[in-house]
Amino acid sequence: AISQPILDLAHDFPILARPVRGKRLCYLDNGATTQKPLSVIRAESDFYEQSNANIHRGVHWLSQHATDLYEAGRATVRAFLNASHDDEIVFTRGTTESINLVAQSWGRANLKAGDEILLTGMEHHSNIVPWQLLCHQTGAQIKVAPIDDRGELLMDQYEAMLSPRTRLVCVAHVSNALGTVNPVDEIVRLAHGAGARVLVDGAQAVAHQSVDLQAMDCDFYAFSAHKLYGPTGIGVLYGKRELLQAMPPWQGGGDMILTVSFENSTYADAPQRFEAGTPNIAGVIGMAAGIDYVLSVGLDRIAAHEQHLLDLATQEISALPGVRLIGAARKKAGILSFVIDGIHPHDLGTILDSEGVAIRAGHHCAMPIMTRYGIPGTARASFALYNSVDDVTALVAAVRKAQALFGIQEAS
Ligand code: PMP
Repeated sequence: AISQPILDLAHDFPILARPVRGKRLCYLDNGATTQKPLSVIRAESDFYEQSNANIHRGVHWLSQHATDLYEAGRATVRAFLNASHDDEIVFTRGTTESINLVAQSWGRANLKAGDEILLTGMEHHSNIVPWQLLCHQTGAQIKVAPIDDRGELLMDQYEAMLSPRTRLVCVAHVSNALGTVNPVDEIVRLAHGAGARVLVDGAQAVAHQSVDLQAMDCDFYAFSAHKLYGPTGIGVLYGKRELLQAMPPWQGGGDMILTVSFENSTYADAPQRFEAGTPNIAGVIGMAAGIDYVLSVGLDRIAAHEQHLLDLATQEISALPGVRLIGAARKKAGILSFVIDGIHPHDLGTILDSEGVAIRAGHHCAMPIMTRYGIPGTARASFALYNSVDDVTALVAAVRKAQALFGIQEAS
């Protein structure tokens, strides 16, 4: 029997108490964004009430205080990722901007015609399009490592695709469309063996398992705070210190310079070099509060709880008639993607919504993987620490209701 780790934390999230369409809200769209605990909401509003000033430039007390809070956020992120140094943490708008930063700074400085970037068949558009833009600019080429029907990388083929031309490999730590947890440690080892750098897209990983970047040894790691119980518009690029220090700026402006004249400018060290202009100060503080919240619950407990819900939902949904699961990797984080014969994912999403059940329906910004499976999209339920067995029950009941509406019968 499956053990039942219970985390009863919904009371920390005010939004979960609001009814939606007259029903109890069953929020299973956590892969898109998570809800925010009161501690995160308060951290942002406290900042504006008590600590607001611009950072890094003021001589006055409040500016120094705001700077201290902002830089304490950097230390919180460093510790959370077990990175070696605070200055390996760059604040960005999120995963998307972090990846674009690496492409436009490291990529333009280091890649040329004939070089290859190795992606995987399950990347999010934000880990595809920035590399296409870079390839148009440099003449480098994208290669795509294939996956099998389960949604796992074919590691023999992956290894065979690495060559001296491979300068960079980019991989999702966890696939947002399939839930697959990729073997990033092994990928880093193989890629470094071939002389390539590694960027890991951690957008779907950091809220579901602990991440130790010194152990993983990747060169870049990106994530967004909003999928980690924090605010939107803020995220992180981790980069190894020696790489960041050698990278040119990609956006110019205040706060990223040492000296400026009309002829030339000199630049601050990383990470300031990559944080041009007034940053999202309140966002950093909210992100740090989100990390503190997750750590206070414990990532091991969160992972066990979400795995329990995933296993239960997988069992119950796959037992329904005409259901096909999309992605059945042996190692998955809390994402259940499926299609049902005769019901378009959007129709399914709409019927579930009328029952108060919020899921995502569509291609999940991962069109190539939909093409791989020959489907237009999937219905995706994704779990967070505040979900409960009741949410799984509501999901299954709503899917049954949709099937009844479409005249799909249980096999007798
Ligand atoms: N990568 C993955 C795997 C994602 O799931 C997402 C968000 N859906 C992103 C990148 C992009 O994150 P953001 O929109 O926060 O920049």
